Amino acid sequence: MKAITLISEKEDGSMNKVENITDYLNKKKIDPDKFVRAELIHGKKIEIVNSHDGGTVINGVDGLITTSDCVLGVTVADCLPVYISSKRAVGILHAGWKSLKRGIIEEAIGKITEIGERKEDLEVFIGPSIQSCHFEVKDDLVEKFSDYDNCFENRDDKIYLNLQKVAKEKLNSNGVKNVKISKRCTYCDDRLFSYRRDRKINNMLAVIKPI
Ligand SMILES: [Zn+2]
Repeated sequence: MKAITLISEKEDGSMNKVENITDYLNKKKIDPDKFVRAELIHGKKIEIVNSHDGGTVINGVDGLITTSDCVLGVTVADCLPVYISSKRAVGILHAGWKSLKRGIIEEAIGKITEIGERKEDLEVFIGPSIQSCHFEVKDDLVEKFSDYDNCFENRDDKIYLNLQKVAKEKLNSNGVKNVKISKRCTYCDDRLFSYRRDRKINNMLAVIKPI
């Protein structure tokens, strides 16, 4: 399914306020009755939704997939918004390091192939998120991602993790080759919210809309 990918910016307000979500959907001419949002838990669970789910919030999942004309959304503020499209389906994931570690990428590929889509047809876009210029990590994460040695960078006695590269490697090694990564770092880009930079829970809405 052809789809457009969107992300709100600071000027749209923080998406932890429902009224800002409503305003953003209006601004983007998205029918609220077709919009499905995931209420996140930093896990790996993904729900397949259909037109009956339009206008609802799905609790306890970090990803949504649909073959209907539903518009899907997750909130992010440094975590990776992962937009997926294939021949007949679209999906969106909220993938922070916890979800990546827990296997949300593998789960998404499993779910979308279960409904008949082919890995070769998947197109993935990793949207604005905190990048290795700013994602400093400590030993605990070095340990957790020890299988991804080549995704760490050392600068000035500090260690930085390239989570986008981790996600890409997971996709590639599971047969998904078409992966694009946004150059926008949420910490660097003043128009975006960053949890690390702002130390506040303000977030953006990432949306995938079938067209
Ligand atoms: Zn940065």
